[in-house]
Amino acid sequence: MEKVIIIGSGCAGLTAAIYAARADLKPLVLDGYEPGGQLALTTMVENFPGFPEGILGPQLIENARKQAQRFGAEFRTGAVTSVDLSGPPFKIVAGKENFECEALIVAAGASARMLGIATEKPLLGFGVSTCATCDGYFFRDREILVVGGGDTAMEEATFLTKFAKRVTIVHRRNEFRATKIMLDRAQANPKITFKTPFVVDSIDDVDKKSVEMVTLRNPETNATEMIAVEGVFVAIGHEPNTKVFKGHLEMDEAGYLLTHDGPKTSVPGVFAAGDVQDHHYRQAITAAGSGCMAAMDAEKYLERQAK
Ligand code: NAP
Repeated sequence: MEKVIIIGSGCAGLTAAIYAARADLKPLVLDGYEPGGQLALTTMVENFPGFPEGILGPQLIENARKQAQRFGAEFRTGAVTSVDLSGPPFKIVAGKENFECEALIVAAGASARMLGIATEKPLLGFGVSTCATCDGYFFRDREILVVGGGDTAMEEATFLTKFAKRVTIVHRRNEFRATKIMLDRAQANPKITFKTPFVVDSIDDVDKKSVEMVTLRNPETNATEMIAVEGVFVAIGHEPNTKVFKGHLEMDEAGYLLTHDGPKTSVPGVFAAGDVQDHHYRQAITAAGSGCMAAMDAEKYLERQAK
């Protein structure tokens, strides 16, 4: 029986692990499908306080992991396949392994939806990005493509005009899912142009490890055209990694865990941190902050249970 299990090893999970380990709770961290979370998929992080020259995402994650291990956190590879939260104890199954814990912190993150183009993942951090706040700064005076027709695409495109020479929004339909106010704002921005209905067929050039060209296709006519761009921001939504918690924890329509009083979920003793419960801020620093809150509240919860 573990005192605390933390599901997920991104910024939220690792911060929770550091705090829980320093509280002598000997947390067990289950790595998940994407160990290190979204930071492990990025390059330079320039907005995490304490690193005036910036730090590589994978390095930041590696440092946090070592920091947690130094205080006694243990790590196990594997992704959670089912849970039973009728406890405590809470029961967690990860493939063939079974775990039990007195308190649980869910920091399973959210995964950015990707277009499914073969070159997209190899170019992540090399011109392809899923986060304008994180990477916009690197695209000063560049030609940028933003893919998507929802509020995120409008928001990111508008934000990117602070840096970019020009932003082209590519959306697969002529109608937009974005709210009117966000769409109006983007349409009124002289630096933004729209290309609809278009899908992205390819992004090049993987060999040069940089984005140079995209091929767009009109799904109605199948006509293709190539345009030279230096950055592609994929803004087609995120999927919280909460499938295994369906029916166990309250979540909103999109699957984000609902929390109250900070990191508390609908089940006492189960806490949520990071992007798994936050579709708004989605930053490394906010994920870290909520990981800290989850560990502190888990500690208090365990103290109360022991009385
Ligand atoms: P979203 O509303 O689900 O929109 C996703 C967009 O991406 C849609 O236009 C969709 O096209 C397109 N898309 C999805 N899969 C695609 C694919 N494989 N290829 C090409 N295009 C694809 O997601 P979101 O924009 O991230 O917003 C999520 C939620 O957060 C929404 O409720 C939104 O209002 C909210 N939000 C609010 C703000 C704000 O108020 N400041 C900012 C950001 C987000 P289709 O339309 O054709 O399906």
